[in-house]
Amino acid sequence: MTDKVHLGHRARKRFGQNFLNDAGIIDKIVTAIDPKPGENLVEIGPGLGAITEPVADLSEQLTVVELDKDLAERLIHHPFLGPKLTVHQGDAMKFDFASLITDERKLKIFGNLPYNVSTPLLFHLFEFCDHVEHMHFMLQKEVVKRMVASPNSKAYGRLSVMTQYYCHAMPVIEVPPECFKPAPKVDSAVIRLMPKAPEQRTAKSVKLLNTVCLEAFNQRRKTIRNSLSNLLTAEEIEGLGLDLKLRAENLSLDTFIKIANWIYDNKQ
Ligand code: SAM
Repeated sequence: MTDKVHLGHRARKRFGQNFLNDAGIIDKIVTAIDPKPGENLVEIGPGLGAITEPVADLSEQLTVVELDKDLAERLIHHPFLGPKLTVHQGDAMKFDFASLITDERKLKIFGNLPYNVSTPLLFHLFEFCDHVEHMHFMLQKEVVKRMVASPNSKAYGRLSVMTQYYCHAMPVIEVPPECFKPAPKVDSAVIRLMPKAPEQRTAKSVKLLNTVCLEAFNQRRKTIRNSLSNLLTAEEIEGLGLDLKLRAENLSLDTFIKIANWIYDNKQ
């Protein structure tokens, strides 16, 4: 058997399949999720069930969304796990997570995410923030660093601003490549995301906030006078109380919101 075959399944690279294979790390992840019976738990990409099994042992019931048909079938027919799962076979990036809300219970979402689609998947999940209690995701360590980065650092970018707009974010565990089969080429880390209350998310248009970030960070070496020139004149930037010589990485989340809301009020 090659290291690409794990528990009788050949790992599919196109689905970002790197299966967790370290009991100590799995235990730490499950402890962070802290699953309990009666909770509305959702796993993205359960794969061969490395996290699913211990979570189901504690919670008795959970929902999973898995793209790989073979793996979804395996879970449905799994003798012990199958009866505890509601399996949705399909793409989590197109999945309507709000459809899982049937009562007052918010979702507790977790997963060892496919790294090739992690950023668009995170943006999709942010849209459901109001239905979510917390999320725990394994990601590339670099992605976690970017999500929690503060202004004035290299890692600070659109992903930092948008993550911190929606959520309080904190790294939980670092995970080296040898904890997976097959081993990925990069280090990994688990992040905890706690959605902010709606009243803390004060952008009048999230789409516009995202556009301002895109423009500013697309040319992150340039001053905002240049990088924001499609959106604001130099006078307008100064009118907002901002120094024209600042760069995107110097702007806080609140400043990005202030810029986006001014454009919304004055130019939309
Ligand atoms: N949870 C397992 C573990 O920790 O061993 C597997 C993790 S593996 C990194 C990612 C899993 O996500 C795979 O099972 C893969 O088939 C699934 N997957 C990939 N793209 C997906 C998508 N767009 N929607 C749902 N599942 C996806």
